Amino acid sequence: MHACTESYELGLFTEPAFTLSRETSEHPLILVCEHASRFIPAALNGLGLDHEAAREHIAWDIGALALAQGLSNALGATLLAANYSRLLIDLNRPLHAPDSIATQSEIYPIPGNQVLDEATREYRRRCLFTPFHSQLQTLIDERLAQGRPVRVVGIHSFTPVYHGQPRALEAGVLVGEAKDYAQRLIDGLSQHPLKVAVNEPYKINPLGDMTVPVHGDARGLEAVLIEVRNDLLRTPENVSRWTDYLAPLL
Ligand SMILES: [Zn+2]
Repeated sequence: MHACTESYELGLFTEPAFTLSRETSEHPLILVCEHASRFIPAALNGLGLDHEAAREHIAWDIGALALAQGLSNALGATLLAANYSRLLIDLNRPLHAPDSIATQSEIYPIPGNQVLDEATREYRRRCLFTPFHSQLQTLIDERLAQGRPVRVVGIHSFTPVYHGQPRALEAGVLVGEAKDYAQRLIDGLSQHPLKVAVNEPYKINPLGDMTVPVHGDARGLEAVLIEVRNDLLRTPENVSRWTDYLAPLL
């Protein structure tokens, strides 16, 4: 492995990798927002994407941070949110996943990721991935050591049109092992006139996902990932509506 000092991205990641809110919360819930930010350091020129594509869903999960913050505020729960775009390195993928540093997202090739040397990959891992997941692991470790219950919930959003197909689904609860918890969430959401489903629009891949299988299932904790369609999170009023739907259930 090359030393990080050889990376041509050296010194670009001057912002902290994450923002941690309510670290000392007593609430069992740890909210995680891996795709909270579209921030890419200016020197990387948006990884060569045109602005509109970069602004849209491939660089981040639109509305997910606002919803996660709403839930954190409503419950007084801890929130760990990424400060960099998923396009630099995807925090919800293990490092060995082929799309950890994606060369293509949906229909968009990502020019700035096409040819990366190993030192640059390692630099992104060390600056962005490792601090985020070390922090999450530490939060969980500390609470378990105190004998406290822990639940891990990732907050995400999905695009209303994917590969040209509109999606009717409004929210999904993605789950691996914590099926009872997921069902409680779905049952609660189903009290409202909402189109919701378990393991839609995506499924947890135990080997290809990160937060739910690694921090939750592998440790025997209740863990799910919640996906809300992003056109439903475009205004503060709508974010607040989804906060009200979800907060009592988590
Ligand atoms: Zn996401």
